[in-house]
Amino acid sequence: MKNILLIQTGGTIAMHLDHDQPELDTNRFTELLLGAIPELSTIADIEIDKVFFEDSSDIRQEHWKELSLHIKKRYSEFDGFVILHGTDTMAYTASALSFSLRNLGKPIILTGSQVPMSNIRSDARRNLVNAVELATHPIHEVAICFNDHLYRGNRATKMSIGDFDAFASPNYPPLGEVGIDIELSQTWKRPAHDLHANPVFDDSLHVIKLYPGMNPVMLNYIDLNETKAIIFEAFGSGNFPMKGDKSLIPFMEKCRKNGCHVIITSQAAYDSVDLNQYTSGRAAKSLGALSAGDMTMESTITKTMHLLGSKLADDVFKSQFEQNISGERSQ
Ligand code: ASP
Repeated sequence: MKNILLIQTGGTIAMHLDHDQPELDTNRFTELLLGAIPELSTIADIEIDKVFFEDSSDIRQEHWKELSLHIKKRYSEFDGFVILHGTDTMAYTASALSFSLRNLGKPIILTGSQVPMSNIRSDARRNLVNAVELATHPIHEVAICFNDHLYRGNRATKMSIGDFDAFASPNYPPLGEVGIDIELSQTWKRPAHDLHANPVFDDSLHVIKLYPGMNPVMLNYIDLNETKAIIFEAFGSGNFPMKGDKSLIPFMEKCRKNGCHVIITSQAAYDSVDLNQYTSGRAAKSLGALSAGDMTMESTITKTMHLLGSKLADDVFKSQFEQNISGERSQ
C-alpha cells in the first residue's frame, strides 16, 4: 500500500469534526477523520500532520513557505501528499507551491469542501477519498481535486461560493476525472533532477482592477519606491483607457521610470491577453508592460511574488514571467 501524508491546514473541511475544539491536536484529528471515513485506510497508509490551522483568508507567503519546507522535509518518506485547505484561497496556495517546489516526482493534491465534514450532505468525504486515491497515482505536479475533477493547481480558480462544483480551469483541460474509475488525461515523466524547494515570495506589489471611469489620480498614492510590480486587471485582451485625464499611460510611464514592473491581466477568465491587438496594449507594451497571457489571477500574483522573491535581474524577471515555467501558461 502507498504511504500518503495528509497535511491539515484548516478550512471548512476540518470544521466541526469536534464541536468543542476547532483546533484539534493531530492525534485526535486522525482518530476523528479515520472514524468518519474508515475507507481511507483501505486506500493508503495515511499519516496526518497539522502544519497550521487557518481560515484560508489568513494564509499568506509565510504559510506557503512553511508548507513547501514541510513537504521538502518529509518528501522521501511518502508516495504522495494531500493538503486539506480552505477553498477560498486554495488556488493561490496551489499556484504558489507549483512555483516553490520544482522537479516534483510525486503528487501534491489540495482538496477541501464547501460544507463541513460533519454535515449530512457534505462534499468533504467524496473530495477527501478522491484526493487520497489520486495521490497514490504517478501525478507529478501540484493539483486541486474537487467535485470529481482534478485540475492543474496553477490553472484552477474558485468559481462558486455555494455549488459543490466550486472550481474551474478556464484555460487548461482537467488533468483527470473521477467516476467509476479514475481517468487521467496525461502521463507524467519522472523529473531528471531532485526536488528543488525555493519558497521565496516578495509581496511588494499591488493589484488594480480597472472599471469604466476609474480616476487614475488615486494611483499617485502608491509609493513606487516600495513597489516592485503593479498588476492591472484590464479589460478584454488587455485594454485600458488612454484618453484624457482617465488615461493610464502617464502612470505606466512613471512605473517605468521607477523600475516597477507593469503586468497586464484580463477580467475575462477565458483565453489570453494579447498586447498586440489594440492600441492601448501596444502602447503599454512599448513602455515595457508584460502580458500575463492566459494565466489565472492566482497564478499571475503568486508567480510575480515568487519571481520578485528570487531577486532576478529585470530582464530575467521579464523573460521568466512571459515564459511557461511550471505549466501555468500556454506559450
Ligand atoms: N472560509 C473557508 C476557507 O477558505 C471556506 C472554505 O473552506 O470553503 O478557509
